[in-house]
Amino acid sequence: MPNQTTHQATTITIPYIAGDGIGAEIWQAAQPVIDAAVNKAYENQRHIEWLEVLAGEAAFEQTGEWLPQATIDTIKAQQYALKGPLTTPIGEGFRSLNVTLRQTLDLYACVRPVRYFTGVPSPLKQPEKTDMVIFRENTEDVYAGIEFAKDDDATQRLIQTLQADFAVKAIRFPKTAAIGIKPISLEGSQRLIAAAIEYAIAQKRPTVTLVHKGNIMKFTEGGFKNWGYQLAETTYAAQCFTMNQYNKIKAENGSKAAEAALASAKAAGKIVVNDVIADNFLQQILLYPEKFDVIATCNLNGDYISDALAAQVGGIGIAPGANINYDTGAAIFEATHGTAPDIAGLGKANPCSLLLSACMLLEHLNWPEAAAILTQAIEQALQSQHVTADFAQLMPEAVCLTTQAFGEHLLQLIHS
Ligand code: NAD
Repeated sequence: MPNQTTHQATTITIPYIAGDGIGAEIWQAAQPVIDAAVNKAYENQRHIEWLEVLAGEAAFEQTGEWLPQATIDTIKAQQYALKGPLTTPIGEGFRSLNVTLRQTLDLYACVRPVRYFTGVPSPLKQPEKTDMVIFRENTEDVYAGIEFAKDDDATQRLIQTLQADFAVKAIRFPKTAAIGIKPISLEGSQRLIAAAIEYAIAQKRPTVTLVHKGNIMKFTEGGFKNWGYQLAETTYAAQCFTMNQYNKIKAENGSKAAEAALASAKAAGKIVVNDVIADNFLQQILLYPEKFDVIATCNLNGDYISDALAAQVGGIGIAPGANINYDTGAAIFEATHGTAPDIAGLGKANPCSLLLSACMLLEHLNWPEAAAILTQAIEQALQSQHVTADFAQLMPEAVCLTTQAFGEHLLQLIHS
């Protein structure tokens, strides 16, 4: 970690992957803005030395590999990186480079803060009510990539074993089925849920919601929910009250006693840990987004939920993310959108997702003053309707800026 004394001269090396498609444009616009925020916050005493590491198309062109070992080694050594979007190579046997990076570095928590910036077009009447931080499990679930293709010998053997040895009768078309396996473990779930609870404690957020589909997948997603409640009621007993405890009190002593226990836990400043089934959650975030603060969820649910919530507050052009291993400290901060091939090279891309991911990185480095300056510049630009094409098309009064001009506008705001 860098020296944390304000204004003491510090230079920190941060590896970056500009990325494919719109990656180069958003990186060129964003990097001077991040540097300016750091310079202003620490009166030129702290500096970021950006170290380019290769991944994606640039890596393939220069080294013949999509994700060179040297890139993984550098990120491991430095502990963090800032990353633009990467193309998923097309063809048999290629896995998403993002998934590979997350799994190789065991970045088990995908953290996505979702908040509204005044001025941004939103499909909601009151988008400011959406203010959540999603903790999505990043290493398990169907993303483990354990799949067996239709017609493979292995698939047929697996199906026969399931039928003969495990009395599985529910494979509707066994001769033509492909099979996927969904591992969800106690350790994998609890380390993610612990990160969400720790975050809620540190940020004084009143609730943590476990989002799952345990009504159908009782042992995997149901396990996630049960292990989450167990963790909250044991390791975090002093800081949490769970709806599981509420329901037990209600069953034994009635509703009034349960309500009294809940009220007294809240009065004592405890975090309320509850759970919601994933489909219901997708309804609730549209109807009552103010009910939710910190969300902990399995990998696939988290994928859908992150994009749905991002859309509520303006879309993926402004949605930041981080992939973190809280045990090793390794973290990759990344724009959550893809390479946007439809607008690449046209100066239409919004660099806010990358910039807000950089804010998360600055917070992670314990450089919150720089993060605040950067966030404030983005707030001012959006509020005064200086925006890139993705927003401008929905804002009749907006000043539509190119990616580069938007970056320059933020620089002016930081220097003003
Ligand atoms: P995408 O996110 O690239 O694009 C979806 C839509 O959003 C497009 O219309 C695009 O123009 C728009 N968009 C995305 N980012 C924008 C921005 N910053 N500003 C303005 N508009 C923006 O998703 P896709 O088209 O499904 O994927 C394209 C490629 O990106 C694929 O190879 C995919 O695998 C990859 N991908 C990478 C990541 C990542 O690196 N984290 C994430 C998603 C997809």
